[in-house]
Amino acid sequence: MAVRVRFAPSPTGPLHIGGVRTALYNYLFAKKHKGTFVLRIEDTDQNRYVKEAEPYIHNALAWLGIVPDESSRENGAFGPYRQSERKKLYVKHINELVNVGNAYVAFDTPEELARMRSEAESKGETFIYNWKNRNALKNSTTLSEKETQELIGKGAPHVIRFKMYSEKDERNLRLHDQVRGTIDVDLSLLDDKILVKQDGMPTYHLANIVDDHCMEISHVIRGEEWLPSMALHVLLYSAFGWNPPVFAHVPLILKPTGKGKLSKRDGDKFGFPVFPLEWDENTPGFKEYGYLPESLINYLALLGWSPGGEQELFSMDELISSFSLEAITKSGGRFDPERCKWFNQQYLQHIDSSIVAAELEKELKKNSVSSGALDLIRIAKLIQNRLTLLTDVWKEADFFFVAPEDYDEKAVRKQWKDDTAKILSSVAELIDSADETTAHTLGVLIKGYANDNGIGLGKIMAPLRIALVGSLRGPDVFEICSAIGIENSVSRINTAIKHISA
Ligand code: GLU
Repeated sequence: MAVRVRFAPSPTGPLHIGGVRTALYNYLFAKKHKGTFVLRIEDTDQNRYVKEAEPYIHNALAWLGIVPDESSRENGAFGPYRQSERKKLYVKHINELVNVGNAYVAFDTPEELARMRSEAESKGETFIYNWKNRNALKNSTTLSEKETQELIGKGAPHVIRFKMYSEKDERNLRLHDQVRGTIDVDLSLLDDKILVKQDGMPTYHLANIVDDHCMEISHVIRGEEWLPSMALHVLLYSAFGWNPPVFAHVPLILKPTGKGKLSKRDGDKFGFPVFPLEWDENTPGFKEYGYLPESLINYLALLGWSPGGEQELFSMDELISSFSLEAITKSGGRFDPERCKWFNQQYLQHIDSSIVAAELEKELKKNSVSSGALDLIRIAKLIQNRLTLLTDVWKEADFFFVAPEDYDEKAVRKQWKDDTAKILSSVAELIDSADETTAHTLGVLIKGYANDNGIGLGKIMAPLRIALVGSLRGPDVFEICSAIGIENSVSRINTAIKHISA
């Protein structure tokens, strides 16, 4: 059987990382089995439709490298890939279900239903529209064919409901989920779900099943929040006379505290993103925060899937070859912002330095600072292993471009001694006279000077760093000296002497 999977988001807003992870698992599974990954937009709910959401979903998946084989952009033989363009198909199929008696037309108004609900509540009961009361309500199972048609003809508002269970049916339905295993469901407790709404639009349940069948979806890999719908979906397949796909319900991504589903509010509270890309100016995504797509992919893959073994860093190709539905965990994955950052820091060390240099260039522009004669790639290489987020570049590299204007008081108090000005003046002269200005030769030169004059190296290194950087941060001091050049170094040393020792 050819593997065909789909990611089927509803365009109601930005794509949450829970959705990203579902898309990722579908993608990994498809690629592992040389199958097809379909992106289908489930836009039947007009009330919740947000125009910007669909392009956002495409862009976010593209940034992450989760590229669909078939979608409204890529095309394919099973389109259209937007449910709003497939309405005719749903009408055709729902009529089949009504004709054979598996679904029925219900005329109960929202007011009538609300009244019955509150009556039940006042008796301490719950109103469920199902086999127990279906025969006493206003629908085509109680009305004659003629009455039903007349009401429809008169334009009486109605919905179409699915007959979940009737007394003659087997009460227990045994379901098989690749993650959860066997689940027994008592059908007599469930309600007759609406398949077509009053506005004539199919509900998620109908459209989803018809599309999964028509698009020849072999495996449905989706969020656990859909597990309660699985019985209905399996029954719908059976009512249509179709074979159901294999189901795998992926556990939720939990809040950092481990309690409840991760939400945007948690992100705001703890200062981390929950969307891949910026949604609006107040809602930056992982990209804008400075995460690399590879690290987010790696982190999300392991948040709910456990390949066993010690390996933590997986490229997309490695994820594809190791992925299996069986290794998806049953319990929810707690989102740990620090661990997510750790992955990012690991990946940042190995990316091409031109990416870091490009980010530096962006920051220079933003801060209206010129790079002068400085080599951005060289500086990128020096700071790369000090970054946790790509957006840390300025924090780690600003002093290469901007000479310090003041000096860290605590560092000065501790490191700047009475003889520091004298020692640093000699160091400045030494640097000024150097023939070669690699970090190595400067190091040899300064260490030689310290040795020859019986000065501990510590008396030079820390004050030199204070003079060049303004504080005790940054990479190797000889590298800094060499990267900013002789002229800058000498002038920074002399300025510091004047400023601090004055
Ligand atoms: N449109 C549903 C959602 O937004 C899809 C659920 C499914 O994959 O069946 O999550």
